[in-house]
Amino acid sequence: MDHKTLLKKIKLSIQLMELHDENPFKIRSYQSALISLERGDQDIMGVSEKELAAIQGVGKSLVDAIQQLKETDTFPFLEELLAKTPEGILEVLQIKGLGPKKVKTLWEELGITSTHELMEACQSGKVAKIKGFGEKTQNTIIENLEFKASNAGKWLYADIEEVIGQLEETLRVMAPQADMTVVGDFARKMEIITEAEFLFASDELASVKSKIKSMDSIEWVLLESGPRTLRGKLKEIELRVVVHFCAKEDFLWKKLSLIAAPLHLESLVDEKETVAQRLQKKDYSTEEEFFSINNLQFIPAEMREGYGEVDLAKENKIPELLTEKDLKGILHNHSTYSDGKHSLRQMAAYCRELGFEYLGISDHSKTAFYAGGLTEDQIVKQHQEIDALNKEMAPFRIFKGIESDILSDGKLDYADEVLASFDFIVASVHSILNMDIKRATMRLISAIENPYTTILGHPTGRLLLRRQGYPIDHKAIIDACAENNVVIEINANPWRLDLDWRWVRYAMDQGVMLSINPDAHAMEGYADMKYGVLIGRKGGLTKEMTMNALTGEEIANYFDSRLKKVKVNS
Ligand SMILES: [Zn+2]
Ligand SMILES: [Zn+2]
Repeated sequence: MDHKTLLKKIKLSIQLMELHDENPFKIRSYQSALISLERGDQDIMGVSEKELAAIQGVGKSLVDAIQQLKETDTFPFLEELLAKTPEGILEVLQIKGLGPKKVKTLWEELGITSTHELMEACQSGKVAKIKGFGEKTQNTIIENLEFKASNAGKWLYADIEEVIGQLEETLRVMAPQADMTVVGDFARKMEIITEAEFLFASDELASVKSKIKSMDSIEWVLLESGPRTLRGKLKEIELRVVVHFCAKEDFLWKKLSLIAAPLHLESLVDEKETVAQRLQKKDYSTEEEFFSINNLQFIPAEMREGYGEVDLAKENKIPELLTEKDLKGILHNHSTYSDGKHSLRQMAAYCRELGFEYLGISDHSKTAFYAGGLTEDQIVKQHQEIDALNKEMAPFRIFKGIESDILSDGKLDYADEVLASFDFIVASVHSILNMDIKRATMRLISAIENPYTTILGHPTGRLLLRRQGYPIDHKAIIDACAENNVVIEINANPWRLDLDWRWVRYAMDQGVMLSINPDAHAMEGYADMKYGVLIGRKGGLTKEMTMNALTGEEIANYFDSRLKKVKVNS
């Protein structure tokens, strides 16, 4: 059990209490305790019983529950609630927009206890007729059910990383003599993972295979498995697992074949043969040697996608890729001035503690009132605090930024003299996400043409596995950024990873720099930069083309000279 899972179980117990009409006082006390636990900075797993009891809103019964959760992964009251809940209801509770109250009504009035029954009831129009539901709610439920179905078994890389890592460990221990490696999408650091894929090579395959077959945590589907593969899924969560087996002498070519995406394997090495055909020759003894004997520059695993990397390798044009330690500062972050969890001082101190030279703070702008966007007065106040902190923390530096909303007509939401008071401006769309491609592209381009715009924030607004972004003409947007000297963000939040890696090379080719921005709403958010770097590397991003790989002094000069140019032109 970890911190996150523990909070999830408490949340589930609250949902079930509401579903079963438990004592409203108890529900409210659990809810308020959950809020303080979520707000707190501490890892609950390391908090003692005494410290727990001292947290605001955490009463005796919850302290006991948490202690039991830590020891046994559950607690009696939760078990009691689960025992009287049909299993399918738990899945219905996950549907977006359906709280426990609505689920209860559906259960009582229509006997719905599964997502399947819910879909049928929606399609026959029964749901719309229930008091408090209506056509619109019914349609939303259908949409959410369809979206959920299409994403079943899909995971964000960041959310499944640990599970796959642990599975790898377990597998390795089962057959320590065998060669073993992770292959497939996960080995290429794809943003979305549907399968954990492994390769084993051994001279005693039969015994390795039978050991793995006997694993408790995986349900093998023997009908889909073959003599050289086992296919199945994890019992605990919806994730497919594939294990390939081969003889020891085949390990290297199998590994290279299974890591690469199909399009990479189909890429031509010369007029006659593809990567796959060359791999099958097995005339190499290391990964590096495979590339060198085929007159190809080494291609890092994450780039083996079939996006032109083989042609680049032929011309010796695979660049040295960005690494996490190349990053010198962190841009695009929120503080308690808008919707962040930590104060400006905390955000800055932690950034410095991690060894960075600078922090770019960019709270929400005034149009984003729902996120506590800053009024002109608050901006003045924030700038005073930044000036004071900069004196105190030098040579560490905080840059004054704002995440300015791009209005529906493409304008930014402050007057020019306010915009001019910032070091940098991230321009982002947060509202009216349903424009067609022409209007959405025009809207972004006019924001890019605003001389104060420094960085284009999360260009499509997508939330992976949650919502599609608005459609944009990527080429036109990137070309406009090139023309107006605007940097494009790779928003490193694992839900976003936007700009998509597939457009990174085109941007670099046009001379557009990218910035790995965590969009942190709390200190812990900085850790997301790791995923931004992974995705940048997939797209072939270099240190030279990464804005926040500039040193504090370089970036200060960059911001300065950009602002001066605006002032000269206006
Ligand atoms: Zn944003
Ligand atoms: Zn943001």
